[in-house]
Amino acid sequence: MKLESINCNHCGAPLEVSEAANFVTCHHCDAQLAIKRTSSASFTEEIAELAESTSRLNEQLAQIAYQNELERLDRDWQQARKRHGIHDQQGSDTAHFNVAMAIAIICGFVGGFLVVGSITFAISQDSPAALIGLIPGLIIIVFAWLVVMRTEKKKVEYLTEKRLHHHRRKSLSPADFRGEKSAQELTAPDA
Ligand SMILES: [Zn+2]
Repeated sequence: MKLESINCNHCGAPLEVSEAANFVTCHHCDAQLAIKRTSSASFTEEIAELAESTSRLNEQLAQIAYQNELERLDRDWQQARKRHGIHDQQGSDTAHFNVAMAIAIICGFVGGFLVVGSITFAISQDSPAALIGLIPGLIIIVFAWLVVMRTEKKKVEYLTEKRLHHHRRKSLSPADFRGEKSAQELTAPDA
C-alpha cells in the first residue's frame, strides 16, 4: 500500500495516508478531512466546514424558494380577489356583498309594500283592477330574493377561498423546500 504525505487543512500537521484513502482523521486536532486530489497536488478539506457551507447554501435556496412560493400564492390571491369584484387593498373586503344584499332587501320591502298596498287598496275601494300593482310587486320580490341568494352564495364562495388562501400561506414553511430539489429548480422563476 503506497502512502502519500498531505497536511491537515485545519492545523497544518503532516499526515501520511494511503493513496486509496478518501477520508482521514487528523491525529493532532481530530479534524475530519476529505482528501482531494488533482493531477498536480493532494490536499485536505475539513468535512465539517464543507457540510456547513453546503447546508448554509441549501438553507438560502430553501428561503428563496419559500419566498417565491409565498409571492406566487399572494399573486394568485390578488387575482382571485379581482375575480370576486374586490379591487382595492384597504377596507372591508365583503362590503360590496353587504351593499348588494342591503339594496336587494330594500327592493324586496318595496315589492312587499306594492303587494300589500295594492291588495289593501283593491279591498278598500272594492276595485279588483287595483290588483294590477300585485304583478310588479311580486316580480320585484322574486328578483330581490334571487339577488339575495346569489350574493350570499358568492360571499360564501369568496370567504371559503380566502380561508383556503390563508391556510395555504400559513402551512407553507421553508422546510418544505429543503432537500431533494435541485438548486436550479428552486431558483427558476415560475412561468
Ligand atoms: Zn489537524
